[in-house]
Amino acid sequence: MKYISTRGQSPAQHFTDILLGGLAPDGGLYMPESYPHFSAADLAAMRGMNYRELAFAIISRFVDDIPAEDLKALIDKTYTAQTYHFVREGQNAEDITPLLTLEPGLHLLSLSNGPTLAFKDMAMQLLGNLFEYELARRNESINIVGATSGDTGSAAEYAMRGKKGIRVFMLSPDHGMTRFQQAQMYSLQDPNIFNIAVKGVFDDCQDMVKAVSNDASFKARYKIGAVNSINWARVLAQIVYYFKAYFAATENNTQKVSFSVPSGNFGNICAGHVARMMGLPIDKLIAATNENDVLDEFFRTGVYRPRDAAHTYHTSSPSMDISKASNFERFAFDLTGRDAEVTRAMWNRVDKGEAVDFNAYGLFEKVPGYGFASGASNHTLRMQTIRETYELYGVVIDTHTADGLNVGLRYREPGVPLVVLETALPAKFEDAIKEAIGQDPERPAELKDLEALPARVEKMGPNVDALKDFIAAEVGN
Ligand SMILES: *Cc1c(COP(=O)(O)O)cnc(C)c1O
Repeated sequence: MKYISTRGQSPAQHFTDILLGGLAPDGGLYMPESYPHFSAADLAAMRGMNYRELAFAIISRFVDDIPAEDLKALIDKTYTAQTYHFVREGQNAEDITPLLTLEPGLHLLSLSNGPTLAFKDMAMQLLGNLFEYELARRNESINIVGATSGDTGSAAEYAMRGKKGIRVFMLSPDHGMTRFQQAQMYSLQDPNIFNIAVKGVFDDCQDMVKAVSNDASFKARYKIGAVNSINWARVLAQIVYYFKAYFAATENNTQKVSFSVPSGNFGNICAGHVARMMGLPIDKLIAATNENDVLDEFFRTGVYRPRDAAHTYHTSSPSMDISKASNFERFAFDLTGRDAEVTRAMWNRVDKGEAVDFNAYGLFEKVPGYGFASGASNHTLRMQTIRETYELYGVVIDTHTADGLNVGLRYREPGVPLVVLETALPAKFEDAIKEAIGQDPERPAELKDLEALPARVEKMGPNVDALKDFIAAEVGN
């Protein structure tokens, strides 16, 4: 399997060549040159597989430059009940991503049982093991520099901690994350993990990271890398749990399932799209947004309109506060019939912050064929959904999952199981939960004293030179 760019002007690459990089040199996103397809017989054989077997059956179809036994070992080491152990009462951690059935035909897919209590651990833990493996094979090292408003940064740190050949420099705004999120990151004492609290907002952090990676000589000298949401390996790892959930929610492979996905950068739901293209019987893929409704607007009108900073809102489901959906170009590429020229023309405009009307290309009419639906939630609906879910089922859900459930229910159909992806546990967002139900969410016992642990964090102004000096000093050591 080779990987091609959505903009068609970069050479095709093997998996491990795109694993450690970001965008293709032409500015596009890497895509597998075709989707492997699972036949009815394949699906029947997969139904009985455990998570690790399923992960290998799927991921190995996309990777041809890691020996099968090595890939299997990396997958087996990643998806263990020990790593994904924050399951709810009555769930089996061996399932890795168990379903939580609210009522017949309505399920949450527990994706947030990993070390940072958000679904990003599902892909990031595999990435940590793949990176370490490939860097050792190439006798190379990497210094990951990133900015986070919460979930991505902590997932990256917990995936890369203690890994040979990898350092992580993670910038975060000194205010803006929840106390839990901050403590989760700052309490890490691993010498290869560096927390940098920037006096500023998330955009300041992102600007600093951009400035560092735009400095080509600094980037080359200090082997600067990233693990952002456009990394193909992250999307790939996320495909697995759509299959796992499908088999868990159905009795046989003639049935269909709909998935509702709390969405921001379109990474998670893009994995659902790929699963569907591979032959998984998915009815609807429902993109649920918060007040930042770029995706909902697209699926309603055909106009993809990235927002500027003034029109990007800070909400109580903060991990979905995006101005554009960076993985959306992957779906657009498929929608064009994999026409890189058209994709390039459209995204030349997106890159300038302009809107693109897919109707003008005759492409919006093709969207229903891909099973997508969408809706936007907001603070009032979110609070109401958390409250009602608690009252009806005795289950406390987080704010992002609440958006997914609220929007998903608008599309529920008799006879079609609806699976809502639970993208974080409520313990991460205490204040919002307290507002909704008047009490704090339960926190796993081993994380009770998180805020009291010693913090390891470097404080810095929004100053690129200070960041470069810091990296240079640490890497030089
Ligand atoms: C990252 C994140 C999302 C959005 O996922 P995308 O892949 O960016 O669409 C939703 N919920 C939570 C809790 C997240 O951390």
